Amino acid sequence: MPLDTVMAHTLAPSTSLVSLRTLSLDFQAVADARVQLAACFQPASMHGLEEGICNHFSAVVPGHDDLFFANPYGYAFNEITASRLLICDYEGRVIDGEGQPEATAFFIHARVHKLMPHVKAAFHTHMPFATALCMIEGPPLLWLGQTALKFYGRTAVDENYNWLALDELEGDRIAQTMGDADILFLKNHGVMVAGASIAEAWDDLYYLERAAEAQLRAMSSNRPLKPVPHDVAQRCYEQMRAGDVEIARAHLASGMRQLRAKGVAFEA
Ligand SMILES: [Zn+2]
Repeated sequence: MPLDTVMAHTLAPSTSLVSLRTLSLDFQAVADARVQLAACFQPASMHGLEEGICNHFSAVVPGHDDLFFANPYGYAFNEITASRLLICDYEGRVIDGEGQPEATAFFIHARVHKLMPHVKAAFHTHMPFATALCMIEGPPLLWLGQTALKFYGRTAVDENYNWLALDELEGDRIAQTMGDADILFLKNHGVMVAGASIAEAWDDLYYLERAAEAQLRAMSSNRPLKPVPHDVAQRCYEQMRAGDVEIARAHLASGMRQLRAKGVAFEA
């Protein structure tokens, strides 16, 4: 089947009831979240974390736990700006913005946000190194290096690849498999990174790909791998997690400064 046939699934436009909603989508917190999420697409594109126009980031709209931002179908990550982001509800209606989310984006992200209320941002990519780990039998991420230890005990694996997620059941299954984990490796597919904030989801997405790349390079040496012992891994994980929220905030702030310095119009 041609790639565009496989990937080009959009939801049928639905505007019923949208006008009945009374929304306060102009609060500063909503505007800030919109800009923060828009900012994440740019470095993700620069680092090659996206695949064509087929990957998606979402974030719960502050003050509206039944709504989420998502990127519209048909745009590459580096085309995403704050005003291009859609606001959707869990029934598939676009409340604000032009266009539609990709169908799998809706079915996966709507169910993750609905069933996992602690998840405020959910980033799904087919980023090459982490996805390569999803194509290997056994646990995808190994505890071989310091960067990987950021994810120690925070990962889950969906072993059952089931074609495209084009209904709520697939999204439900993904949310259920994820459980309390923040990182879900979708075997034969890609990854889902769930964060308590946009900054934390971005930070995890970036470092997950770095850890996956380092692991694959180590594996390609064909020399024996040297795992970190459990007690050391656990201690390192605890040290890293203690500073994660602040590091993630600073990481995103740095990214936004760099985008502004380059004149990237992500805030438009
Ligand atoms: Zn995917």
